[in-house]
Amino acid sequence: MLIQRFLPLCGAAAAFMAWPDDAQASVRFCFQHDSTYTDSGLERAPACTADGTCEDEWLTDQPHWALGLIVTITKNGSSQVFALEEDGGYPGCTTPFNPSGGDAGWYSINLLSAAVVNNRWIIAGDADDQVASHVFSYFHQGFGNPTITYTGTAGQSFAQFNVLSAATRTASKFATGPGLNFSVAPTTPCSGGGNCYQNGPKKLNIETTNGSHLNKFLIAHEIGHAVMHDTLGAAAISDCNFSTGGANCQAPNHAMRSKEHNSCALVEGFAHYFAAAVWNFDTGTDCWFTYWSPNNTPVSCELGTTNYPLRQLETQCLPSWIGKGTELDWMRALWDYNQNPAPLPRPDFDGVLDLIDAAPTWGTADAWLRMDDGADILGESGRWTTVSKLNGIDH
Ligand SMILES: [Zn+2]
Repeated sequence: MLIQRFLPLCGAAAAFMAWPDDAQASVRFCFQHDSTYTDSGLERAPACTADGTCEDEWLTDQPHWALGLIVTITKNGSSQVFALEEDGGYPGCTTPFNPSGGDAGWYSINLLSAAVVNNRWIIAGDADDQVASHVFSYFHQGFGNPTITYTGTAGQSFAQFNVLSAATRTASKFATGPGLNFSVAPTTPCSGGGNCYQNGPKKLNIETTNGSHLNKFLIAHEIGHAVMHDTLGAAAISDCNFSTGGANCQAPNHAMRSKEHNSCALVEGFAHYFAAAVWNFDTGTDCWFTYWSPNNTPVSCELGTTNYPLRQLETQCLPSWIGKGTELDWMRALWDYNQNPAPLPRPDFDGVLDLIDAAPTWGTADAWLRMDDGADILGESGRWTTVSKLNGIDH
């Protein structure tokens, strides 16, 4: 059954609290999802880099508030349904309520793998689109507001709740974006297998047999595709068929470092950028990202490394580069467009979406040119040219 941890209640302190009469007491229940995620490995000292820069929006070994989750709480046969609060004073908590018969006693609690965040539904279903449900009993002593930590049961419902937790954090961080419908399935209908965003039903598929439901960067990447679709109002053109580019630029499909048509490099690079922006603070120029293949060494959005060099296309891949790009270079270009401070004011996350929205519809191999047109429209051509040359995407 459900694994739960309860924050310790201090009985001695409670004895001195002027707690109102039980029959009139109000209480709020708070919920946290225990963390089970892959991260960059650079989330805190001493694992941070020498200059102290770190990923991380989340600390992986800490639980996270269950933002927006749909919860039914029943006591004495009387039920109330809540969408837990989002960021703010009481994230992951119900509003205060008056339980039947007072706040002390046994409760039945039902968590659903569905949430409302920023007025958008996020539904993590199984292969048949069925929402997972956790039902468990909880005894509340009647002192204070309980915090209940859950991880979900093993197997399918665990995967659904795990994906939902990362997705709700993603959706709460950025107001922009669509409602999200996930299928968290042991096998997925994505062409070629694995994880994908399906343009038609506007649905994400996250693989569970290979552990993709544990990868918070991967989950945010797929959400990034949905956000781009929502921004454009149409499916983004992304031709990922080109794959001959030299030893360090090959991939059977598309990959972080493969030489691709730049429509693919833009769309996939944006999804990587989006994931990086979700899990890194917006207040510094450091940024770390974990890719899921071909190895798990962290990728810096800013700095070139041995495995992920700066200007991958120009330094590693065979010419011609016209109409081509790599996802790595495009991720860094978009991060720099978002983050490089000069000239002020720099575009924020929505400014990146504005650029994508302003760009005339691109084809297979003119994505950089059309984004350049979009930058002209926005009066940001200077900034765009700078980040394009810095990262070698201007082809
Ligand atoms: Zn993708």
